[in-house]
Amino acid sequence: MSDIEEHRKKIEEITLEMIKLLKTRTDIAKQIGDAKANLGMTVTDEEREDALRTQVTKLCKEIDLDQSTALKFLNLLLNESVKVQSDGKQTHLSVFLKAKALEEEGKKIIHLEVGEPDFKPPEVVKTALAEVYDKGYGKYGPTKGITELRKGIVGTVVSGDVPVENIMICPGARFAVYLAITTLLNPGDEIIVIEPAWPAYKDCALNAGIKVRTIKTTLETKWEPSIEQINNTINENTKMIILNYPNNPTGKTIPQKLLDNIIQTAKEHDLYVLSDEIYDMMQETDLWLESVVKYNYEKSIITKSFSKSYAMTGYRIGFVIAEPYIIEKMSKLQALSLTNVSEPIQYVALQALGFDTSESSDIISERRQALVKSAKDIGLEFVEPDGAMYLFAKTKYKDFDATKFSEKLLEQGVAIAPGEGFGDYKEFFRITAIDETKLKEGMIILDTVLKESYE
Ligand code: PMP
Repeated sequence: MSDIEEHRKKIEEITLEMIKLLKTRTDIAKQIGDAKANLGMTVTDEEREDALRTQVTKLCKEIDLDQSTALKFLNLLLNESVKVQSDGKQTHLSVFLKAKALEEEGKKIIHLEVGEPDFKPPEVVKTALAEVYDKGYGKYGPTKGITELRKGIVGTVVSGDVPVENIMICPGARFAVYLAITTLLNPGDEIIVIEPAWPAYKDCALNAGIKVRTIKTTLETKWEPSIEQINNTINENTKMIILNYPNNPTGKTIPQKLLDNIIQTAKEHDLYVLSDEIYDMMQETDLWLESVVKYNYEKSIITKSFSKSYAMTGYRIGFVIAEPYIIEKMSKLQALSLTNVSEPIQYVALQALGFDTSESSDIISERRQALVKSAKDIGLEFVEPDGAMYLFAKTKYKDFDATKFSEKLLEQGVAIAPGEGFGDYKEFFRITAIDETKLKEGMIILDTVLKESYE
């Protein structure tokens, strides 16, 4: 056998051995997952992962192996463990689906778990829907969106001097987030997610083989991350930090100064900043956090949507703001998977731009205040939201399990979103600010079930 053949044979053997070891590792990870579920522990244990990372780094030095490659490989293994251990987690979506099934059986449900406004889109949307057929919008179109809409967005929902080339229309901010994570990063890369967080960031990363490093924030520190926490999480594989203010689920924003510092840190480490600003129009005006657009950072990706401020969740339309080289990468996957965003819906969104969203923001603000009052009245513990349409609360009861509570509450006709869907927050739950009458009704039931269960 020639030298090369001999080496190839060895490579084959080693690769197959590694696959066998992967199987053994995955089986053990599953067993740990079952044990964690029984003990009520969360899937990801950052401390254990860090300890393993340190051991791998040490080993790399001893055996003279490139550390970055080894850490990427470790990230893939850690992600596999997270995947096999993540089944069965309750999210706002799984509760919503259960609630819907109960409704189909004829049960009345008050939806305090939903992530959408409970009012209709502006009247102009109805007119536009009636017009669109005759206007002829209904063919295949440009992947990045129709020019009228891209132009219309600048100067209305996006302020500042943003070139049209920096805007791409997407079927919702969710798809924009998916495109950004999938096309800008490579397997083994790391992203920083500040928790509690909307679960899709983590899920998109897992799907693309990207490792999520979470920063846990607390109610005690008003859900604000510190620059120190961020710096401690960054290493040579860190490629992106995700921001979402006003935040889902806490409704909190951060001080502009902290955002300045986060952007500065991202620049120093050459990180992408993915700023999900879907709730930007729903903020308390005295606390208004300015968009990441203002920093003119060439590695920023800002996602926005018509879903919340125009109550157009089911229309599936949003957009992204980024430098053309980033848009180019994202649009390739959009072209591959969609061809283009529905033209009729783009036309409708264009017409919606003429609507003054302050009206719906005011409605949401009133509902948010009603929710805060009602939550205070029944003694929930929380930080008052600065925006969005949620409140993230816990109770005064020790060992309170929000997942079990939400199951019990659903039996009594009220759906809430358990905290475990947003990270390591089993004792918290999210309530959506809905119409005041229904909200009151729901909160009375919530209070009753709470007292019955814990007093
Ligand atoms: N980002 C956040 C933080 C959200 O809460 C949601 C919806 N719940 C989305 C993005 C998705 O928005 P869209 O409907 O535009 O896809």
